[in-house]
Amino acid sequence: MAKVPKPDELAQIEHRPPESPWTETPVEFRPGTYCYGAKPQNIEPVDMPNPRDWNPADEDWKLPENWKQTVLDGMKLRLNRFRSFKLFMDICVRCGACADKCHYFIGSGDPKNMPVLRAELMRSVYRNDFSTFGKMLKKYAGARELTEDVIKEWFYYYFQCTECRRCSVFCPYGIDTAEITIIGRELLNEIGCQIDWIAGAVANCYRTGNHLGIQPHAFRDMIEFFVDEIEEVTGVRVEPTFNRKGAEILFITPSGDVFADPGTYTLMGYMMLFHEIGLDYTWSTYASEGGNFGLFTSHEMMKRLNAKMYAEAKRLGVKWILGGECGHMWRVINQYMDTMNGPADFLEVPKSPITGTVFENARSTKMTHIVEFTADLIRHGKLNLDPSRNDNKIVTFHDSCNPARAMGILEEPRYILRNVCNHFYEMPENTIRERTFCCGAGTGLNTDEYMEMRMRGGLPRANAVKYVHDKFGVNMLANICAIDRAVFPPLMDYWVPGVDVTGIHELVANALIMKGEKKRTTDLRYEPLPGMEEEEEEEEDV
Ligand code: SF4
Ligand code: SF4
Repeated sequence: MAKVPKPDELAQIEHRPPESPWTETPVEFRPGTYCYGAKPQNIEPVDMPNPRDWNPADEDWKLPENWKQTVLDGMKLRLNRFRSFKLFMDICVRCGACADKCHYFIGSGDPKNMPVLRAELMRSVYRNDFSTFGKMLKKYAGARELTEDVIKEWFYYYFQCTECRRCSVFCPYGIDTAEITIIGRELLNEIGCQIDWIAGAVANCYRTGNHLGIQPHAFRDMIEFFVDEIEEVTGVRVEPTFNRKGAEILFITPSGDVFADPGTYTLMGYMMLFHEIGLDYTWSTYASEGGNFGLFTSHEMMKRLNAKMYAEAKRLGVKWILGGECGHMWRVINQYMDTMNGPADFLEVPKSPITGTVFENARSTKMTHIVEFTADLIRHGKLNLDPSRNDNKIVTFHDSCNPARAMGILEEPRYILRNVCNHFYEMPENTIRERTFCCGAGTGLNTDEYMEMRMRGGLPRANAVKYVHDKFGVNMLANICAIDRAVFPPLMDYWVPGVDVTGIHELVANALIMKGEKKRTTDLRYEPLPGMEEEEEEEEDV
């Protein structure tokens, strides 16, 4: 892993553009700022083209012979297929409203990370090959030929965009640069230019059902390990079931929650909640992944990896699907799943068996987000909660890009937080809700070789956390995304030491007074549970 400069060095950001015009400024593959190329063993299993050993820093990328025609044909196909893509190529007026809204531009100062210029990398080729005006006036109309250097530039900058869509919130024309990045990555994939961190997850997911390559028996073992952990802390033995036909609800969450801290604490939180309310649910060891790195690869791959959700729901005969805390997982579900792999007419509109609430917003997908489900439980007084059990946590909330901007899930997590903890503070207004800043490493960019860029891209979010850390003593960053839970710990250690990271359902679990629980003295991390230490001391005195 390339050495990351110290925070005070990295914070010296040069926002002055280079002397040379952007078209003549070559891309530099500097360690720490780009991701490794996909290994053949990770693209062969999913039949993606041009498997080979290659390194983006090499001169020769070993592109296929017909690479140029492949890319131009791919562009033509997509210009016909996606009206939005054609529109976004045509309508930008270069007003610059988006220019300073991207976290990567703010953190790097690189003009090609301005959304307008990121899109221009492709628009210039569009003008050259697909617009009459551009064909006639060439560079005077902002057109340029597709060359290997342009491909390298696309690779560098389309894997320096997290498809977060913050820029689109500020564009008066609604241009969504994330959609351009999606197409850019698709085209790169057609000539074998994928990054390995995504390709590995895709191949694993295709083979085993989840990004981490966990086999069904190991997936089950891991969840059963958490059953023991929960019993150790609470005295209550929860009883998850697996692949159970006839269960009312299928529960699917990102595999990151099964595998890595602090997501595992959130996973235990789900299991405690479900036990407490007596939910009739099952896990699937086949649909063992909510996330979908296919979204970062191509529409086709997204569809292939998503298909298992409805397939498993059908096989098991459940009524509807409940989904865990994740970001991009919900973008796929909310925006694409029902038309890609549906309609799921064999399922019912989700209805909470505890409160009777019908989630009309999920009428089409038949899948409900757990924060909507839990907020509804709280609103109906179905949970016995003691928020003081989280009194050692001074919490702020990060709106994950996809649930916030692609789904409008803004109030539910805040409603839950206000019910499960007593100390909750918002970050500055221009950094939350629809205007939230990305964690800096979404869309499959949370790989270690990319650490410098992750720290740069995460700077605006970290800066807002630092503000509430300094002002209110915030020591816990809550979120509802598995990638956030993986990305934030190193980001906080780097920019705002002293701030830890949690999912919302970990905080729910701390506050939840379970029927039959023993006197709980610790939380799920085996750290003291506030209010319980004194009782322990009193008992010792007696
Ligand atoms: S805000 Fe929209 S129209 Fe203005 S430069 Fe950015 S993409 Fe173009
Ligand atoms: S989608 Fe996000 S990462 Fe991509 S250009 Fe826009 S603000 Fe930057």
